[in-house]
Amino acid sequence: MPSEALFPLLLVAALAAVAVAVLLARLRSTAATDRELGAVREALDATPDVDLPRAARDLRQEAVAARADAIRARDDLSQMGDLLETGVVHIDANLRVASANRAAHWLLGQRAGSLAGRSAMEAFVDHRMEALVRTAARTGATSSELATMDESDRVVLVRARPATAGGIWLVLEDVTELRRLQRIRTEFIDNLSHELRTPLTTVRLLTETVARDLEKVDVPRRIRDRIVKIDVETGHLVQMVNELLDLSRIEGGAPQLLRDEVELGGVIRTALERIRPFADRQRVTLAAVLPEGDLPRVIGDEERLGQLLINLLHNAVKFSEDGTRVVVTAREESGEVLVLVSDQGAGIPRGDLDRVFERFYKVDKARVRGVGGTGLGLAIARHIVEAHGGRIWAESEEGRGSTFSFALPVAPAT
Ligand code: ADP
Repeated sequence: MPSEALFPLLLVAALAAVAVAVLLARLRSTAATDRELGAVREALDATPDVDLPRAARDLRQEAVAARADAIRARDDLSQMGDLLETGVVHIDANLRVASANRAAHWLLGQRAGSLAGRSAMEAFVDHRMEALVRTAARTGATSSELATMDESDRVVLVRARPATAGGIWLVLEDVTELRRLQRIRTEFIDNLSHELRTPLTTVRLLTETVARDLEKVDVPRRIRDRIVKIDVETGHLVQMVNELLDLSRIEGGAPQLLRDEVELGGVIRTALERIRPFADRQRVTLAAVLPEGDLPRVIGDEERLGQLLINLLHNAVKFSEDGTRVVVTAREESGEVLVLVSDQGAGIPRGDLDRVFERFYKVDKARVRGVGGTGLGLAIARHIVEAHGGRIWAESEEGRGSTFSFALPVAPAT
């Protein structure tokens, strides 16, 4: 067949092949589109009767509204943060400042808006703050008080707390004024008690002498009773003033604790001898349960530890009934020297047990007999124990008695 005759045939065959290819491609693409639409329906959880374009439009509108809500909530939160006088800083997991409110910039002496995005060290330019952030990242919650380095002399209390969404929240509080007032109060109490101590001690000595002298002469009983009462009351006044002075000095951090090796058995025996006249007067028996030899030594200030025991023993006797016993027990236990002062007195209600170590806290006065007190003895006791790196606690059963215990770490072997 001549090639001219073949040409139309070839053309028709080629056109037919193209048409088949186009048809196949279209069929494939329709199948792909159907598959994709099926996937979209599945993702939207939409049944076949749902109008997909409309569902997509609704979804988009919801997303836009949700985004606007989120932006509004973020702006509200940030505005609220800026209205606070407490500084709030969010540190992310990489220890960079994610956000900080206005007060935080002000309290840290930084330009407004300059903290975000900076590392803890760049942002705070203070190794104590950086150390605090690192400790918080490691251990969770922590807090510290910092004096700012700028000329403002501000004292800032910083508390770090883990953020639920990761990172750390820092809460900064300006406590400059509070600390200043506390210092004034401490100085005032210190000066006042100092001034009162000398005349009161003289009055005490004089009344004691008069009471003794009156025993030798014949005076009416009511006069003698009055003098004894004056003697007892001035004794309380002297004790209160001494306790006030002690507390303000301890809280002011004034006296440096000695760091001697102390054997508590000796301290306990001396304290028992000092309290014995008072116990005899109250008709309370004193006893000690101590190990045969010496107790392991603790590091501390013998005089302060003696004062701690006197405070506990004084209370134990004061709150005991006639004819009961006060027992001091001491022993070594798990690397600590444990001392217990137990009485069979009025006891302390459960609700008051944790509070008796607070300054000026006194359990209902009506329950206990006789003398009052300042409510400072146990606050002083707690300060002394904590300054020695120890623990103090109370256990009690109402009507059966109380046990005040403290534990001090045994001195490391030299
Ligand atoms: P105070 O000068 O009043 O004794 P403290 O700080 O020593 O002050 O004690 C605080 C309060 O704790 C006391 O007022 C008393 O109510 C209670 N308390 C302390 N020790 C005892 C004890 N051994 N038995 C019963 N109550 C006690």
